Amino acid sequence: MNARLARALLISLILLITPLSFARAQDDKGKTTVHVVQRGDTLFKIAQQYGTTVEAIAQANGLTDVTMLSIGQRLLIPNATTTDPGVPTTYLVQPSDSLRSIALRFGTSVADIAKRNFMLNPQQLYVGLQIALQEGSTGGVGIKTGWLHTITPTDTLYRISMQYGVTLPQLMKTNGLKSDAVLFPSQQLLIPGTDKSPPLADLPTPFTGFSLEPATVVQGKTIMLRLNTELPVTMTGSFMNSPLIVFTDKSRVYHIVMFGVESLAQPGIYPMTLNATDDQGHQYQVTRNVEVQDGGYPSEALTLAPELGDLIDPAITQPEADRLNRVIKNFTLQRYYNGPLGLPCSAAVTSQYGTRRSYNGGPYNFVHSGVDFAAAPNAPIYAAAAGVVVLAEPLTVRGNAVIIDHGWGVYTGYWHQVSLIVKVGDRVEAGQIIGYVGNTGRVTGYHLHWELFVHGVSVDPLQWVRQSFL
Ligand SMILES: [Zn+2]
Repeated sequence: MNARLARALLISLILLITPLSFARAQDDKGKTTVHVVQRGDTLFKIAQQYGTTVEAIAQANGLTDVTMLSIGQRLLIPNATTTDPGVPTTYLVQPSDSLRSIALRFGTSVADIAKRNFMLNPQQLYVGLQIALQEGSTGGVGIKTGWLHTITPTDTLYRISMQYGVTLPQLMKTNGLKSDAVLFPSQQLLIPGTDKSPPLADLPTPFTGFSLEPATVVQGKTIMLRLNTELPVTMTGSFMNSPLIVFTDKSRVYHIVMFGVESLAQPGIYPMTLNATDDQGHQYQVTRNVEVQDGGYPSEALTLAPELGDLIDPAITQPEADRLNRVIKNFTLQRYYNGPLGLPCSAAVTSQYGTRRSYNGGPYNFVHSGVDFAAAPNAPIYAAAAGVVVLAEPLTVRGNAVIIDHGWGVYTGYWHQVSLIVKVGDRVEAGQIIGYVGNTGRVTGYHLHWELFVHGVSVDPLQWVRQSFL
């Protein structure tokens, strides 16, 4: 009898503690403060963020083991004295979102988001839009996707999936791994969008996943789309009046698209459409409005010496551009590159990709289509990634030029070399010396101009040094 009474008392105490704590949090601030656990969070860190204590959070949430936090877990923060950085104050709209899915994810309502963001029509939602989720939004909290994990000797796929709070099938699918895959130290795995908590997508059948990497589409940058379907399909698509080239794995439920945004693309909102056809011939479509943002590229005014006049003479530049286009418009289904690109030489960057240029006082309608390195004469030039040499010849403007095909429609170009030491058809490895810095072509001095093409579009190569597109 006594034991039963004691147990009953204990249960009612537990039931009482939690609602009381909730009530206190609501009374003190007039509203509940909720923190959504992000990767890297600890209770100590969260307590510091909100100016409260570990004990107070543990008690408010009935936590017995303060080391057990899971990504996406919602914690009630009692007596928060600072603004709430846990529920992002703003959110960057992803292709898999609708207002409904965003409201669900952050525990608010469509009406609240619409009102807060002055939206008269929820159809105004577009990918890349930063919406305010809270009072006093200051911005800056984005959703990160596509983390790279470097394998250590003790790693297993299961352990990695636990570490990042993703499912094992998700992890294997993202990296194209089978269950018997052998992991080797220093190998890199892409961790699927783990910071989305929980993954509430709002997509038409049969699409189950649709994300962009990076999360915003910017002039002159590469964007990668990842699409998942719940059944095998053949996929096509279009964006900014160009077809999207879709790579589909053997299962035909995992699809990726790489797209280079022209550096002079008009910023604005463009429809992105994906069409899927299943084996019965049924057709499905998903369309999302996607914002293309200004790249914020600098401008420079150059005065050309008379002998460099060729640089702006279409009679000279056009045939050379046509020659390059014939080479870089192809795409090789095999992918030779693996991970981020390496730098092609060890020297300072003197002119960034995307710089708007005016020649001899004319309009700023020329663009620097690559990155210039101020390398010493005859300094070695390295292949940025593995691939096959598809062009090695002297050109009027670009001088001794080499183009390497890295597969999947990705090419790198190395201009103004002293001489040509590789030839078409050569297979090169990442970091292999493919030439030496020279001053051939129309140049003002020794330098390496390095260029990257993604599906025929010249894009910022340094983005590929910082980020992996796998
Ligand atoms: Zn250049």
